[in-house]
Amino acid sequence: MKLIDFFKQFPDEQSRKDYFREHRQKEGIKCRNCKGTTHYWMQTIEQFQCKACRTRTTLRSGTVMESSNLSYLDWFIAMHLMTSTKKGISAKEMQRQLGRKRYEPVWFMMHKIRAAMGTRDERYELSGFTEMDEGFFTTVESATVGQKVKKLKRGRGSEKQTPVLVMAQTEKVKGPKNHRQNSRCKFFKMRVMPDLKSTTINQVVKDSLSPKTEVKTDNYSSYKRLNEIVKKHVSKVIPPDQAGKELPWVHIAISNAKRNLLNNFHHVDDTYLQNYLDEFTYRLNRRFSGDKLFGKLLIACISFSWII
Ligand SMILES: [Zn+2]
Repeated sequence: MKLIDFFKQFPDEQSRKDYFREHRQKEGIKCRNCKGTTHYWMQTIEQFQCKACRTRTTLRSGTVMESSNLSYLDWFIAMHLMTSTKKGISAKEMQRQLGRKRYEPVWFMMHKIRAAMGTRDERYELSGFTEMDEGFFTTVESATVGQKVKKLKRGRGSEKQTPVLVMAQTEKVKGPKNHRQNSRCKFFKMRVMPDLKSTTINQVVKDSLSPKTEVKTDNYSSYKRLNEIVKKHVSKVIPPDQAGKELPWVHIAISNAKRNLLNNFHHVDDTYLQNYLDEFTYRLNRRFSGDKLFGKLLIACISFSWII
């Protein structure tokens, strides 16, 4: 969706609120008091009221926008820019586009949207044929860890390489046109790993893939126990120069994700790496959604509350 079409569809705050409410009602409202699901909309006070116990729910509560002072316009433009731009957008640039004085609320809003994206993608498990490999992303240690780090200029920590497990569900393509790729990728998952021990890898694979999956990896020793949890594990000795050929989709995804992070952020705090990867994979998994992507993200944001 182009920005001009966006403003045609949502010319004022009321039109955005109405759109948000319609989608919220479609998703269903759950009463926090009695868990009832039938609600009336009270136009004068702009709240839902539970039919059973009369508890009221504001339009924003129970969604990603709960407790936010930013307008619907801010949120909608943020969702729009995070889905309509191919490469994503930094919080600094978002702040500039929104004309907001303070950086922190904008930064926080974007992280909440990323969390909604991540939660949405967690609902899907990969199946069929899946390539898997690990990539190492340059991050800085969180500024909140340790006294010494806090004293560093701009609160930056030291650089490190954070392991990320990358999985790509692919399918065979009959008669590829250019003979370069004989498979097509459907969905990706990227998980920041505390370590690369086989037990840690197996746990993440269990959470991300169906047990019916056929997984292909290189012969790294930590992948040795994958056959215990998936239908078939193909382990192959892959020389470094052949990695792009043997595991093409994970390698494309890793290099694109690295470039994307490098372009948007000068330093990626390791605390937030998963969030940035969630945004990257969310867009990647829906690369054929076109104009529908904004609506999809809005639904993901309506069904997600960051307040526990
Ligand atoms: Zn109720």
